[in-house]
Parts: sequence; structure tokens; C-alpha cells
Amino acid sequence: MDQVERLLAGIQAHSKEYIAISDGIWDRPEVAFCEKYASETLALYLRGQGFRIREGAGGLATAFTATYGAGGPVIGILGEYDALPGLSQAAGLSYRREAEPGGPGHGCGHNLLGTGAAAAAVALKEYLEQAGVSGTVRFYGCPAEESGCGKERLAQAGEFDGLDVCLTWHPGDENHVVCRPYLANVILTARFRGRASHAAAAPELGRSALDACELMNVGANYLREHVPPEVKLHYAYTDCGGYSPNTVPETSGLLYYVRSQRVAEAAAIAERLRKVARGAALMTETRLSFRIEHRMYDYIPNHTLGQIMDQAYRQVGAPRFTPSDQESAAVFRQAGGEGLALSERILPYQPSRECAMVSSDVGNVSYLVPTAQLYTCCYARGTPYHSWQLVAQAKGPAAHKGMLTAAQVLALTGLRLLEEPQRISEAKQELAAALEARPMPAGTQDPGN
Ligand SMILES: [Zn+2]
Repeated sequence: MDQVERLLAGIQAHSKEYIAISDGIWDRPEVAFCEKYASETLALYLRGQGFRIREGAGGLATAFTATYGAGGPVIGILGEYDALPGLSQAAGLSYRREAEPGGPGHGCGHNLLGTGAAAAAVALKEYLEQAGVSGTVRFYGCPAEESGCGKERLAQAGEFDGLDVCLTWHPGDENHVVCRPYLANVILTARFRGRASHAAAAPELGRSALDACELMNVGANYLREHVPPEVKLHYAYTDCGGYSPNTVPETSGLLYYVRSQRVAEAAAIAERLRKVARGAALMTETRLSFRIEHRMYDYIPNHTLGQIMDQAYRQVGAPRFTPSDQESAAVFRQAGGEGLALSERILPYQPSRECAMVSSDVGNVSYLVPTAQLYTCCYARGTPYHSWQLVAQAKGPAAHKGMLTAAQVLALTGLRLLEEPQRISEAKQELAAALEARPMPAGTQDPGN
């Protein structure tokens, strides 16, 4: 058996453990920053495999790093494990039935993501052990991808310093290495405080915080006309000022997402929204509290790494599904067209400058370290993300197969980089060139916003 066969067989040999860990995390879904069970389970497993664990990475209770090896290159592997609120769903059922009424659920498959990434780290550790070569593998237990931007916090704390490359994956309905950028997303809150009063008896004494929110949204909707066409503004009320029309609302609040192709552009538009919010406060004689909560950077795909990962993917092959897997998936299928419910093809690696209409805190890492990520098919074609249909499938045999394939591709990519460290220098040069073409957002050094 050669080294590659041994690496891939190692993941298969541990597959029962990985499936049990992933299913265990699925069974106990935990939302952003509450992932106690998931982080402890993965950290415990990696400690048992000989990794050095550092808990509380970046000052976050449910973040950790697990490191094995010595010297360079240092390969980072990102794992996530947070669930989504309100998506509890019984496994395998194609109709809605909550497992726990009102509870959270793994609607993005991060139970698979964290476990598959940890499996890749273990395989690389086994390779380092056997080959006796220089190199370090570091698994990052990253909390709060869905909300909270966990990797932004880890990046600010310098947790990615010293890494040479970073690899990760995500469960999906196709097999491919990500070769397009993602949108940046600057997340901000605007809260207004006015003065409560009886809406009929003493309206002149009241100053409505809800009016301020509404006027801010009107201003933002006019702003849309004067931003680049790819910019997307979304807002939600986090505080509607109460439920009584007879009281002038004293407080009210909004949460805004500002998405754009570059984080600097999104941050600049967020500053224009600040002016809109100030205007709304001025008009309504309310007090504004405006905060940039998170800067989720646009994702920079590193094509040097992407091509190595794509080759590794083709060597490992797409996950192979049984007729019974296909049959179970068929009831969840939402996309039409030819072909099986579960994809067994690997899409071509065709780099494009066109942004995918998604955002991820992996983007923050991609500005610091050359980064590559892949998707493997774990779900029926067209299954929407953040849906109960996805939760239902994230504990099934197809999802397990996709997870193990992802672990193999990540591990083989890592092995190639350890064998050919000069490719890492190329990847770094590519990142340096990409960063030169990207202005940094103003005020990134100012944590007080
Ligand atoms: Zn996700």
C-alpha cells in the first residue's frame, strides 16, 4: 500500500467513529457560541489521537485548536459545528416533524463539516507520523459561523498567524472545489431611543423610535439607487417598539446586512448608512446607537491551492451512492433536470471572478492565509440551505459518504502540500497579488467602530 492509499484507507478505518461523532453533534444541535457538546466532543477525540489541544481560542469558550507535528509547513483545517435556531427536524423524514418543538437543527450540515475536517486532520497526523517528515497540522474548532462571525474573532486574536495554508469544506448537493469569490457582508445594527408617551392624549410629548427606523429604511431604499449594482442591502427589525399602537415607541432597532464584492466597498456603504441613520435620528429627535457588528470579508479563492485540491478530488473520486441512497434522496429532490438525486460527478474547476451570492467568515481567513475549500454531495439536488429538509438528510448514509469523501480530499490536498512545499510559496505569492488589488476597509484597526 502506498502512502496515498494508506492515507485514504486510514479515514475509512475510522469511519464508524466519525459517523458516530457527526450523528452525536446532529442529535444535540447547539447554536452560535453555545456549541459546548460539539467542541468538547471534537477536542476530546483529537486529544485521544495525540493532538495538543488549546481551549478557548480567540477568547471564545467554544473555540479550540488541535495541533500535531513540528516545524513547517503549517497546514490549517477549519471545522464548524453550529446549528440554526428553529430548524429542529426528525432525521430521514420528508415531511415536517420537529424532533424537539421550537429547537435548533443542523440546517447547514455543520455536524458533518466539523467532523469531516477533524477526520482530515487525523489522517494528516497519521501521515506525518509514518512519513517522518517536517510539518504541522492544526485543526481549528470554529464556533458561530451562522451568526456571530466566529472566524473574524479568531482572526482578530491572531489565531491564524503562522499558518501557511488553510483548507476547509462544506456539505452540499454537488461535488466541486470552490473557484469563485464570495460576497463580503458587513453586519451592522442601528438602535434608536425616543420618548414614550400616550399616542392619543399626549402625542406632542412622544418621540418615536419606530419612526426613526422607518425613516432610516426609507433612506436606505433611496441609497440603493446610488450603489454599485452588485451591492445588496437587507434589513430586519430586531425591536419593533412594542405591540401597542397607543404608546409612542420608546425603543426600536434594525439589523442590516451590506453585501458587496469587496469588504472595503461594503464597509464604505455601511458608513453611508450611518449618515442615513443619523438623518433619521435628527428628524425624529431620537438618540441613535449605530454599531458595525461584523465585517465578513469577501472570500478570495486561491487557485494554486484550488487546482491541487481539484486534482486530489479527482484522484479520490466523488462519493459513490447506492441505489437505496438515491431512492431515499429522491423524495427530497427540489431541482429538476437529468441525472440522479445525489450527484456523483465532480464539476470542472473553472476559475471565475464572478461572485457566488453567498458570504462566509472563511473569507476573513482567506485574506490572511492562502485558502481553499471544496463541497461534496451530501444531500439531494436542490435541497435549500438552512431548511428542515437539509436537517432531515444531515444524519443519513449519503451525508456520511459525502463527509468521508471530503475528509479524504482535504487530507490528500494536505499531503500534496507537505510533499511539494514550493507550491505553498506559489499560493502565498498569489494571495499577495490578490491583496494588492483589494483595498482594506477604513478603520479596521479600530475595534470601537
Ligand atoms: Zn454552512
